[in-house]
Amino acid sequence: MSELNDLYQEVILDHNKNPRNFREIPSANYKADGNNPLCGDALRIYVEMEDDKVKDVAFKGSGCAISKASASMMTQTVKGKTKEEAEKMFDEFHRMVLGELDEEAEENSLGKLKIFAGVKEFPARVKCASLSWHTLNAALHGEEEVSTE
Ligand code: ZN
Repeated sequence: MSELNDLYQEVILDHNKNPRNFREIPSANYKADGNNPLCGDALRIYVEMEDDKVKDVAFKGSGCAISKASASMMTQTVKGKTKEEAEKMFDEFHRMVLGELDEEAEENSLGKLKIFAGVKEFPARVKCASLSWHTLNAALHGEEEVSTE
């Protein structure tokens, strides 16, 4: 397990230091603010949809390393996906961090995101890891704010 932990830490630190898609999208047709008051994470997600596909997705805001790394990887993962595919990934990711999905045994489309499976051991971190996904989901449903509380 220690190798996995090393990889996990390396990826989290890399994305925290150099978050991907860390910018605004002026032409976004959906955006939402997500707050995790427990930790102080506050993210805004921008989504530009075109023909039911995520043409572009980005985020701004501040938060702990896990929330930022998760948001960074979320944007990389859902870009180019349909709304339905993005919602399915949100559901899978959410169940994985809650420990309700066995990411190795159950078929899923999480790929690299499996790196976050370890947070299920740390209940306080589950909200950090899933904040960007909750916020994306809210944005896609036309909601402008979401709080993990
Ligand atoms: Zn956090």
